[in-house]
Amino acid sequence: MTSALPEAAASTMITGASSVLIGTPAVPGVVAAPAIRPIPRVRVETMPTSVPESDRAAESEALRRASATVAERLRERAAQAGGAAAEVLSANAAMAADPGWLDAADRAIADGHPAVAAAAAATEQFAALFTQLGGLMAERVTDLRDVCDRVVAELLGAPEPGIPTPTRPSILLADDLAPADTAGLNPDLVVGLAMSLGGPTSHTAIIARQLGIPCVVAVPGLDDVPAGTDLLIDGAAGHVLVRPKPEAVAAALTDHRASTERAAHWTGPGATADGHRVEVLANVQDGPGALAARDNAAEGIGLFRTELCFLDRESEPTVAEQAVRYRAVLAAYPDAKVVLRTLDAGSDKPLRFAAQADEPNPALGVRGIRITAEDSGLLDRQLDAIVAAAHGRAHAPWVMAPMISTVAEAKSFAATVRARGLVPGVMIEVPAAALLAEAVLEHVDFASIGTNDLAQYTMAADRMSPRLAALTDPWQPAVLRLVAATAAAGQRLGKPVGVCGEAAADPLLACVLAGFGITSVSAAASAVRAVGARLASVTMDDCRRAAAAVLNTTDPRSARRAAAEILG
Ligand code: PEP
Ligand code: MG
Repeated sequence: MTSALPEAAASTMITGASSVLIGTPAVPGVVAAPAIRPIPRVRVETMPTSVPESDRAAESEALRRASATVAERLRERAAQAGGAAAEVLSANAAMAADPGWLDAADRAIADGHPAVAAAAAATEQFAALFTQLGGLMAERVTDLRDVCDRVVAELLGAPEPGIPTPTRPSILLADDLAPADTAGLNPDLVVGLAMSLGGPTSHTAIIARQLGIPCVVAVPGLDDVPAGTDLLIDGAAGHVLVRPKPEAVAAALTDHRASTERAAHWTGPGATADGHRVEVLANVQDGPGALAARDNAAEGIGLFRTELCFLDRESEPTVAEQAVRYRAVLAAYPDAKVVLRTLDAGSDKPLRFAAQADEPNPALGVRGIRITAEDSGLLDRQLDAIVAAAHGRAHAPWVMAPMISTVAEAKSFAATVRARGLVPGVMIEVPAAALLAEAVLEHVDFASIGTNDLAQYTMAADRMSPRLAALTDPWQPAVLRLVAATAAAGQRLGKPVGVCGEAAADPLLACVLAGFGITSVSAAASAVRAVGARLASVTMDDCRRAAAAVLNTTDPRSARRAAAEILG
């Protein structure tokens, strides 16, 4: 059952708090705890302009020690983290020890700059270069500056900027978090997150979901809440209650515990209370993730993001290397559905051996299936690896292409996949494909809707932009209409249409999706039980009524309210 507070309970709670701030839900869950805030970066006010020549070697040595310490700390945190979190932390650790960056800083020290100023100068030099390169490289500038701030703090003996380690469970408030901060969070101590910026599909939200930390993003008025203030956050409703009354906290937590309890006992398979099947699957990126999905009662894998296996590769992995990775996921589900997505390289998921580095607008560039038009060998070799990995399975894996925008792309992909005995499908994440869903589906055996990109392209709003979070909310009625139209096309043709974007991780929205006629939902493993239990608590008739009500709304908040009024 969902952790969302029913609307009635939410309004009781509003009177039970000195104020309620309403943001965008990102990760469901209800927690009450005092607020903490990140430690700000060290501001260097005065700095000697020139270091005597005799001291320069010591400055250089101090900088290298500090950067090694920071790199080691980030590596340790990477080792404790898993999945996407570990990747972000390892990449930042590599940045802290980057020889090019250290050489640039050394040159500044040789010119007489102190280590702190030299680190800042080297960082700005690289930041300018990355910004000029644009796209993905430009996005790394935040990480670069974050790493530099940590090295500077280490040099000055100041506390490492970023998240303090709280001594008791706390709710972290911030504008938005650096990827390294989000990835290193300890969910036993940071029990909730509220961001004044950020989006539900930003990496902060994705990692918070992976860690199971309730999270609300894009919360106006959060800046006025000081550290130490008692808060209650409801990650499913998107509410932050400031100084809530103890009775309100007790009521909300009791309600939440009851729904958590129901979720904990959910074991699948996915179905509504009146027995309509809706498969509840998991999104994964590796073998351990697939095992975790199985432990969380996922019936199968609805989205295996294969590109995430190879983010650190300079050169294309061989067919054999790829097969090892794919086999690890297939092995977790020997007899169940596993949907592999072919490499979705480009934009927010750079693959050095596949992506185009110099595009001015990578989200609209040569990404996903479009790469195949320029290099069909990449797809051929990946499909060979999938066939090798699936050797001996009773059922052929399902394979889908990302970023399909035309019927011709779907047709050509389906032919290539079928030729190898695999089951072809497409992701629907471009509005053009949703609008022509029936014609697209004619050529393939299934479709899976990627609501993260579908929202980005429908609303013309970068999914990575914290300032545009409200636009990329999956409850945007325009996005939901495209989802409904795609589901209806699937029903007309009798072909399965699932949802594998973050929308599927929202238990209330999952019921609405079922009402549209979606046949499966696929979410992060940590969200699977809550989604399954919520679906099991409602009838298909209620789901259909909620779906119809949502399609009559014109903004996300009314859409949520309309669904909650019917589904509770
Ligand atoms: C999506 O776009 O919704 C999706 C599932 O793909 P990704 O988030 O990997 O782009
Ligand atoms: Mg996508």
